[in-house]
Amino acid sequence: MTDLIPDFIPNWIDGEEKPSIRGDVIEKKNPANGKRVCNLARSNKKDVDEAVNSAKKAQAMWAATPAVQRGMLLHKLAMEMKAKRESIAQIVAIETGKSYKEALGETDGAISLAIFYASEGQRLYAKTTTSAVPNKYAVMVRQPVGVAGLIIAANTPIANVAWKVFPAMICGNSVVLKAAEDTPATAWIVGAIASDVGIPPGVLNIVQGLGHEAGAALVANPHVGVISFTGSTPVGRTIAETAGKRLAKVSLELGGKNPLLVCDDADQDNAVKWVLLSAFSNAGQRCASASRIIVFDAIYDEFKQRLVDETQKLKIGPADGDDLGPVINQKQLSNMLEIVESAKKRGAAIVVGGNRIDGEKYKDGYYMAPTLIENVDPDDEISVTELFGPIACLYRVIDFESSIALVNHSPYGLTASIHTQNFNRAWEFSQKVQSGVAVINAGTYGSEPHMPFGGLKQSGNGTREPGTEAIDIYSELKCIYINTDPEKV
Ligand code: NAD
Repeated sequence: MTDLIPDFIPNWIDGEEKPSIRGDVIEKKNPANGKRVCNLARSNKKDVDEAVNSAKKAQAMWAATPAVQRGMLLHKLAMEMKAKRESIAQIVAIETGKSYKEALGETDGAISLAIFYASEGQRLYAKTTTSAVPNKYAVMVRQPVGVAGLIIAANTPIANVAWKVFPAMICGNSVVLKAAEDTPATAWIVGAIASDVGIPPGVLNIVQGLGHEAGAALVANPHVGVISFTGSTPVGRTIAETAGKRLAKVSLELGGKNPLLVCDDADQDNAVKWVLLSAFSNAGQRCASASRIIVFDAIYDEFKQRLVDETQKLKIGPADGDDLGPVINQKQLSNMLEIVESAKKRGAAIVVGGNRIDGEKYKDGYYMAPTLIENVDPDDEISVTELFGPIACLYRVIDFESSIALVNHSPYGLTASIHTQNFNRAWEFSQKVQSGVAVINAGTYGSEPHMPFGGLKQSGNGTREPGTEAIDIYSELKCIYINTDPEKV
């Protein structure tokens, strides 16, 4: 299909490329045109167990390598990713259907994050403090958990790989990464680069395959000490159950139904710009996508019209000049169309979009028209279900107090944004909103590698990645008490 993506994507186990033991494969298609890209290994429990054993074997040596040296090796990996950024971005673009330009931005973000964590090898701070007892000292150190099982979504594949692999490895864990089945080559090329730069065999294993097969086997494996998952809330819940039974550490970065509030004093041009980016960029496949647009009654009709006008101008396709591309697969597209249809039956009004895009250019891809919907109840299925596509609902509110109530009326609590010129409103919002990230006068957007990201309620289990906060997920704190005897000096 392409020189960059081999016809078959194998696993990386113990430093070697391996097909699944049973030889089963899955076909991967390009979302922009429905054409086959490659096959990937369909791994099952046996493959996963082999990968975990390889990780287990390599872990003690990796943990014994000083963190500064681990950091130097990870820095080499980051630099080689930088040298190959254009190839990585092309792979991301082919696998996801997003534009090369967007894929390159994502790749550069992943490299920044990789550099940030490589540098953590020189820090890995913990506390040293006083003791109540004379001649006794209290010192904390960070130790690796052991084998880290990492499971990721396909929406921003290279960013998702970097978010988990780098913090897990800098802390001295060996890794088994279960790549997303829709973006196998992005994970595979990171494995290839890791091997080239000398990451020791077994430290970074990458398993391809389906969630309920390879993913579930990884979560259940008793030798996996920490599981970090980025994906949907229902799958996160089953992972928490399985891991909870064996008391494994779990970090869950889950879904969102993110509100963007437009007050009557908002700079409307700026608010329109950010609604479009927040709701429709990456075809709405962002956990942080704004899917609930809450607008003050006083400006609702005017703002809606502006939004419709600008939505109709969006360019759809996989090219650099396009605003949004396809969604990741046919199943995802069909789910969205079904939920929109059923909302219509309950009285929802489609303001714009609501359909699959047809026409010669789009007919074989998985293109959902950017969609705005109104007249839906805040408790309707479409208001409380994450659609993970370019679909947002509009809601009308009469004042600030009722807007805060509606913003927080959600099972999720990941990100939120307010548009206002009033400092007091902005501050009140940032204090009262139930979310892990609050943004003033921009989008539900723009988290940075050195800052913690994560959500409340059903958006996660309280952990935060990335930033230095992710270090808490991938390390165990040990408290060491040192008693000295000054008489023996
Ligand atoms: P998904 O939950 O279906 O799949 C995510 C990953 O989990 C895939 O690798 C899949 O193979 C695996 N998986 C599926 N079932 C499994 C099981 N039973 N056991 C173990 N692993 C399993 O999610 P998706 O549709 O691929 O991704 C979209 C979701 O990811 C959205 O809900 C989105 O909000 C979320 N997401 C969250 C963040 C965040 O940081 N909070 C970031 C990106 C995406």
